[in-house]
Amino acid sequence: MKALFKNINYKLLSCVFAVFLLVILILMSVFSVNKTEKQPIAKMVSGNAVEEISEKEIDINSFLNAEIELTLKPNTSGFKLVYTAVPNSTEYEIYRKINGEKGFTLIDTTQKNIFTDTTIITGNTYIYKVRAVIKQKEGQLTSGFSNKVKKKFVWFDKDKKMVALTFDDGPGKYTNKILKCLDKYNAHATFFTLGLQVNKYKSSLKKADLIGCEIGSHTFDHTNLTVLSKKEIKSEINKTDKRIKKIIGRKATLVRPPYGAVNSKVKKVIKKPIVTWNVDTRDWATLSSSKTFDNVMNSVGDGDIILMHDIYRSTKDAVLKIIPALKQKGYQIVTVSELAEYKGIKLKNGEVYREIK
Ligand code: ZN
Repeated sequence: MKALFKNINYKLLSCVFAVFLLVILILMSVFSVNKTEKQPIAKMVSGNAVEEISEKEIDINSFLNAEIELTLKPNTSGFKLVYTAVPNSTEYEIYRKINGEKGFTLIDTTQKNIFTDTTIITGNTYIYKVRAVIKQKEGQLTSGFSNKVKKKFVWFDKDKKMVALTFDDGPGKYTNKILKCLDKYNAHATFFTLGLQVNKYKSSLKKADLIGCEIGSHTFDHTNLTVLSKKEIKSEINKTDKRIKKIIGRKATLVRPPYGAVNSKVKKVIKKPIVTWNVDTRDWATLSSSKTFDNVMNSVGDGDIILMHDIYRSTKDAVLKIIPALKQKGYQIVTVSELAEYKGIKLKNGEVYREIK
């Protein structure tokens, strides 16, 4: 061993080491020059470190300023979120807040511009927002947030009885009382509103939408559509849609023609499913809450669509009893679109539905 140590030339060894260090330094400088030669076009702070996104072909400004429109639809497995696809994004971040909580939580990321939240509970109200992300190994960029969407969730069992309560000619001064009762029992209804009335009851419309009720169209001013020209029918539908959209952010999903009057021209011009009824309470004729109650409870069956009007005190009084009584009998109280969805029926534009079984 001693002989081995004696034979080592220490001068040569330190010289080799110095050359080795020099080579490393040169390599490092070459790589860092290469890095700065790429002009970084955006910077962002990720944690405490400033990272660089150096892809020249991405239009960063249009990404950062992208307007993301978020819409939400309940389906049989949860809330389906659909939002604007943002060019160049590598993924989307889904944020959620349960009503009453302080801040939003990142619940998931996905590469698609569709996301279904299945981790929600009946009776809770949820608020969502999303944003787009460009993720690269150098770092990440995030777009601004979408609009926020807020909705109460109610889950239904497709194997249990369902019924759709529908209200025409409103909104009116009794609509809020009906909504409060629906909310209390985790029940939904469909309101076939008049375009003429909606601006007077904006908060009712918003509340209905928030608790999961459906907003349909009963035309603008309750005209018999069968006597109108194509142009006039279109105007009745479009004028009403425009007002509804301004209040709840989307158009009426369904149309109920006044008097249930439909002909082939009406079916052709209305580009939405047409919904009539198979249980007529005749609430407008009797103006009796007990008769309205009996007319529902004596004839109700699975898949029925029940006609009422939320503009009469007697109807409101009846509904406050009908909702718990239906629940007691094991009925789930759903919107017309939910009835179709849970029964596995795809509603078609221009087709008439009087019940969904
Ligand atoms: Zn009517």
